[in-house]
Amino acid sequence: MWLDLRKIIETPGASLGFAVTLDPEHLRIGAITGFKRPPEARGEVVNTAGLLNLRGELTAGMTCVCDRCGTVFDREKVLPLDVPLAADVSDEASPDVFPIEGDGVDVSEIAETCFILDAETKVLCREDCKGLCPTCGKNRNDGPCACTKPGDPRLAVLSRLLETPEKPTE
Ligand SMILES: [Zn+2]
Ligand SMILES: [Zn+2]
Repeated sequence: MWLDLRKIIETPGASLGFAVTLDPEHLRIGAITGFKRPPEARGEVVNTAGLLNLRGELTAGMTCVCDRCGTVFDREKVLPLDVPLAADVSDEASPDVFPIEGDGVDVSEIAETCFILDAETKVLCREDCKGLCPTCGKNRNDGPCACTKPGDPRLAVLSRLLETPEKPTE
């Protein structure tokens, strides 16, 4: 989506809203297997004392595959956007600034770039994912597998703790 900035580029205090649906095919990277809802970016470009800033939010309902156990799960993403825009950008000096090309910017391209820069390389279905048993391949999140040695004293302690009945609260 091309956003023409001519109306606000010379007017401090002026702003211009945008709302765009992004192409999911561009954003299916890393652990992301698909999108339940297409990613959307909405917000505004604001002229603050002559400097342009793109502000807003990118939201997406994704399906991801866990890096540890391989389970496919849903994840909601909300990424705040706060991107300075400038007509003169020398890449090395300010890598975070997006260039204004001619009289405007491609909002979709900016949002997609922010999404890709923010994407995690490793995604877990939950923080404490136990992963798969290296011996039998069973998902350890579903419980212990047959490979678990019954004689392991640490596990004996654990199972005793688990078996302790909870005291009824009064
Ligand atoms: Zn997992
Ligand atoms: Zn096992």
